Amino acid sequence: MNAPSRHCIFCDLIQGAAEVSVCYEDDRAMAFMDIQPVNLGHALVAPKQHFESLSDIPRDLAMHLFDVAMTLSPVIQRASGCSDMNIVVNSGHQAGQNVFHYHVHLIPRRADDNFEIALPFEGSSMPDRTFLDAMAARIIAGLRDPARQAHGRSARAVAG
Ligand code: AMP
Ligand code: ZN
Repeated sequence: MNAPSRHCIFCDLIQGAAEVSVCYEDDRAMAFMDIQPVNLGHALVAPKQHFESLSDIPRDLAMHLFDVAMTLSPVIQRASGCSDMNIVVNSGHQAGQNVFHYHVHLIPRRADDNFEIALPFEGSSMPDRTFLDAMAARIIAGLRDPARQAHGRSARAVAG
């Protein structure tokens, strides 16, 4: 078991030590209702084992959690009466993560809920194409990095 470095409320509720409304469970994952939902039906999909964020969760487990999210999404849409949905991961302080036990938000949306994940971001401008190209090139180089491949990642860089 990957022990949390400090007290973890999600470990508590996964282990049955805190009140929780579970809507899905398998050997690796649990989904439960968010205690302070954007709209009723807002659910969190979390690994049973403690991992903090995208930087430490194993790739296959992260993929499994997304698979669970994809299974739950249409069911939550029907149960909540919302046809639209945000699927969100906040990973790290700067990204707004508050509970440091990795989780995927499933947020059913209503027209008048006033919740905002507004993109494109109003406070940003459109950079010159050279900056976008340069960043794309850095990412392609990163994908080709032999050190990364030694860690068994399978994504492929753009050919050329
Ligand atoms: P994040 O900012 O992505 O870490 O989101 C944490 C989410 O966990 C928030 O939406 C909280 O409302 C939710 N939350 C915190 N404590 C509990 C709890 N005991 N049971 C269910 N959801 C919780
Ligand atoms: Zn935990």
